[in-house]
Amino acid sequence: MGNQPLIVLSEQSQRTSGKDAQSMNITAGKAVAEAVRTTLGPKGMDKMLVNTAGNVVVTNDGVTILKRMDIDHPAANMIVEVAETQEDEVGDGTTSAVVVAGELLKRSEELLDQDIHATTLAQGYRQAAEQATDVLEEIAIDVSEDDSEILHQIAATAMTGKGAESAKDLLAELVVDAIQAVADEDGINTDNVQVEKAVGGAIDTSELVEGVIIDKERVSENMPFFVDDATIAVISDAFEVAETEIDAEVNVTDPDQLQEFLDQEEAQIRDMVDTLVDLDVDAVFVNGAIDDLAQHYLAEAGIFGVRRVKKSDIQRLARSTGARPVNGVYDLTEDHLGFAGSVAQKDVGGDQRVFVEDVEDAKAVTIILRGGTEHVVDEVDRAIDDSLGVVRTTIQDGKVLAGGGAPEIELALALRDFADSVGGREQLAVEAFADALEVVPRTLAENAGLDPIDSLVELRSEHDGGATAAGLDAYTGDVIDMEAEGVYEPLRVKSQAIESATEAAVMLLRIDDVIAAGDLVGGSVDEDDDDDGDMPPGGPGGAPGGMGGMGGMGGGMGGMM
Ligand code: ADP
Ligand code: MG
Repeated sequence: MGNQPLIVLSEQSQRTSGKDAQSMNITAGKAVAEAVRTTLGPKGMDKMLVNTAGNVVVTNDGVTILKRMDIDHPAANMIVEVAETQEDEVGDGTTSAVVVAGELLKRSEELLDQDIHATTLAQGYRQAAEQATDVLEEIAIDVSEDDSEILHQIAATAMTGKGAESAKDLLAELVVDAIQAVADEDGINTDNVQVEKAVGGAIDTSELVEGVIIDKERVSENMPFFVDDATIAVISDAFEVAETEIDAEVNVTDPDQLQEFLDQEEAQIRDMVDTLVDLDVDAVFVNGAIDDLAQHYLAEAGIFGVRRVKKSDIQRLARSTGARPVNGVYDLTEDHLGFAGSVAQKDVGGDQRVFVEDVEDAKAVTIILRGGTEHVVDEVDRAIDDSLGVVRTTIQDGKVLAGGGAPEIELALALRDFADSVGGREQLAVEAFADALEVVPRTLAENAGLDPIDSLVELRSEHDGGATAAGLDAYTGDVIDMEAEGVYEPLRVKSQAIESATEAAVMLLRIDDVIAAGDLVGGSVDEDDDDDGDMPPGGPGGAPGGMGGMGGMGGGMGGMM
C-alpha cells in the first residue's frame, strides 16, 4: 500500500482523538456546570429561560434549567443526565451534583496536563468516591420517621432560596403532613400528593386538603353543588350506551319505529342511572363522557356527576375513597363503592374545582398552592417538589446530614488523610477529588457575596477542631453549627450526587476518541481532516457540525446569563 492512506470512515464523519477529545469533553462538561453554578444555595440567583415559543420560566432549580437549555453536545448531555438521575433518585441536590461533576472535570484537566494518565485518574476518583460514601455514612445522623421537627427542617432546607421564603414554615408543614398522610406499608409514592396551583392570593394561604381535588366542574348545573356522606362510584370508561362493535344500519320505515328505537335507548340510560340509584350512589366520577340524557337523569336523582376525569385523578380517587374503578355501570357492585364525607364544587382562585374530602383514611392528598402570579406559583411548585422528595427520602433511609457545605468540608479533610494511604499517582487524583468537593461551600460563599477563601479557611479550621456540622450561614457569612440552625439534607442527596458526578466525570475522562457519524454532521467537512483522524482546525469547540454544538451551546449560555 505504500504511503497511501487507508480511509475507513465515511467522508462526512468526524473524528477527534486523544487529548483533543478529552479536552473537548471536559470543556463541554465544565460549561454545563458553570451555567448552573450561580444558582446554588440560599442566596443563589435565578435564571430566566425563554423558549422559541416565547414561554418564560424563572427558576433556581438546576434540573429545570438544564432540561430547558436545549443542550446538544453529547458530553454536555452526560452532565445533564447527572442532574436527571439526581432528580429521579432523590428530588433535590441537582445543582450540587452538576457543580461537583464540573469541578471534578476541571481538576482532572490540571492533572492530565501533568501527564497523569486518565485511567489512573479514573481509578483515583473511584476510590475517593467510595471512601467518601463511607465517611458520609459515618457522620450521618439517624432520624426516626415521626421526628416531625427534623422532617420539617429538611423540608424547609430544600425550599430555601426558591421563592418560597415568606411562607417556608407553612409550606414545610404542608409537605411533611402530606408525605406522612400518603405513607403506607408499600412505601411512599409522591404521586399521591397532588399540588393544585391557584394563581391569586398569598402564598401563606396555601393549604392541605386530605383528599383529591379535580380540576373539573360537575357536568350539569342541575346537579347538587355538594353532597355530604357521599357514596362514590368511579368509572374508568364512558357513561354511555355501549356502541356496537359492528356498524349497524337501522332502517326505519315509519315514525313510530324511530320513536321505539329512541325509547329503547332512553330506557337503557334510565336503567343505568337506576343502577346507581339502587346502590345509593351520591357521586359518580367518569373517565370518559357522560351521555346527555344520563346527565339529566343523574341530576334528577340528585347525583353529583363529573365527566372526563383524568386517569391519574381516577387513581387518586380510588386510593383515597376506597372506590374500585369499573369499566361500565353494570359492573358496579357494593364492593366497588367508595366513600367521602364531602364531595363539593368550590371556587379556587376563580376556577371551579371538585373537592373530594373527609375520606376515612386519606391515602391521597392535595396541596392547594396559592401565589400572586403564575411564575411565582410555578417556582414554588418546583420547590415543593424538591421538598416532597427529601422528606420521602429521609423517611425511607432514616439518615440525614447537616447542610451548608459541612459534609463537603468534612469529606475533603477525610479524603486528604485517605490520600496518604493510597500513594502513587492515584494519590494525586484522590487529593484532587477532595479539592473538587470544596466547590460546594466555595460556591455557597461566592453566591452569598462572601470571600470564598476566608470562608473555606474558617470552615476547615472548625472541622479540624472536630466540628463536623460546621457550615456556612449564607445570610450572615458566619461559620455556624448547621445542626443547631436546623439546616439538614438527606444523606442520599449527598451520596447520590457524589456517585453520579464521579460516574459522569470518569466516563468522560475515559473517552479518547469521538467519532461523529456523517449524518450527525451538519456542515461540509474539509477532506484533510478525515483521513488522518486529526482534530479539525479550530481546536475544541471550533469543530463544525455535530461537534460544534458545544460552541453553539457556550454562546447560548453566555447570552443567557
Ligand atoms: P441543589 O439543586 O443542589 O439542591 P440548592 O440551590 O437547593 O441546590 O442549594 C443547596 C445547597 O444549599 C446545599 O449545600 C444546602 O446545604 C445549602 N443550604 C440550604 N439552606 C441553607 C441555609 N439556610 N444555610 C446555608 N446553606 C444552606
Ligand atoms: Mg435544593
